[in-house]
Amino acid sequence: MKIPITKPSIKRTEIKYILDAAKNGWGKNCYDYINKFEHKLSKYLGVKYVIATSSCFGAIYLSLKALNIKKGDEVILADINWIATVAPIVHLNAKPVFVDIDPVTWCVDPREVEKKINKNTKAIIAVHLYGNICDVKSLKTISKKYKIPLVEDAAEALGSSINKRKVGTFGDFGCYSFHGTKTITTGEGGALVTNNKKLYRIALKLSDHGKNEKKQFWSDLIGFKFKMSNLQAALGYAQIMRINQILKKKIKIFNLYKKYLVSKNIFLNPTKKDEINSYWMPTIILKKSLKIKREHIFRNLKKYNVDSRVFFYPLSILPMFRKIKKNKISYNIYKRGFNLPSYYDLSENKIKLISKILNKYIS
Ligand SMILES: *Cc1c(COP(=O)(O)O)cnc(C)c1O
Repeated sequence: MKIPITKPSIKRTEIKYILDAAKNGWGKNCYDYINKFEHKLSKYLGVKYVIATSSCFGAIYLSLKALNIKKGDEVILADINWIATVAPIVHLNAKPVFVDIDPVTWCVDPREVEKKINKNTKAIIAVHLYGNICDVKSLKTISKKYKIPLVEDAAEALGSSINKRKVGTFGDFGCYSFHGTKTITTGEGGALVTNNKKLYRIALKLSDHGKNEKKQFWSDLIGFKFKMSNLQAALGYAQIMRINQILKKKIKIFNLYKKYLVSKNIFLNPTKKDEINSYWMPTIILKKSLKIKREHIFRNLKKYNVDSRVFFYPLSILPMFRKIKKNKISYNIYKRGFNLPSYYDLSENKIKLISKILNKYIS
């Protein structure tokens, strides 16, 4: 049997709510689970406003649109990233400005962000990679100093926190993903969160075709359709009720890898004082001194039916962009990085087995 990288944890409550939504969630009940899910998520995150969306891509798009990002504007983000973070910038005809990452957090380096700020800079997007946490304090300082909004992409870091405050709630907007591979899932889905009432109202209106709240079938502007369905929200509601249980398991899995991976030639996700890393994906970075290629390790994991996943590429290496080799850390680290299986039902014995294979080939 294959050991996959991720798969969701679906229990009785999930099935119960999905069936209930399928049977009863129509007509006057058609927003019930959406409202419940948004409410529960806002309580969990400690944030005032939540909009459940069809994806995190949609949430990021809405955030930038609500911040009025348009042609000619520049948006700064880390070079190492998932494509969904940059796509909305491009769709809005704005210019993505890729900067290098911090070698410890693997997230955007605030010093590099500040260097790139000019009069066209209209937003900063900070992605919390693999559960790791960006240097939020420095980013907030820069955001305030230059009056440039900060959007947090916390798709991979639901549950990560700094001094008990959840990541995704520090910026002007926070975005989450509930794709099937993420910490909790709605199949496809996401959320946009903010503490700013004005921004919330703009984003909410944009998310549903600019509909007027008072006048039926009347739109005041051209918007989008980035809403989550009640069926998806039913699944999300069951999952957010179990969030602490799911996170506890994620952290346990990471700590078991930490225990069993004895090699001194690797780095794992960093953990800092006063922070909780939700370890969405336990990730290995091979030390530079090590001469083995990660592909060699992948081949050997495959022999034992263990799935692995490459570290994100620098976005600027993709054919749509121009290479920025100056982003030295990004261009070096990705070749040495990969993710390990960490799904909810992964047993300690399997973690032992995976670690044993890795210990053998990384020595
Ligand atoms: C998964 C992910 C997204 C996109 O999420 P979707 O819900 O699939 O749109 C965006 N950013 C990051 C960092 C992600 O990992």
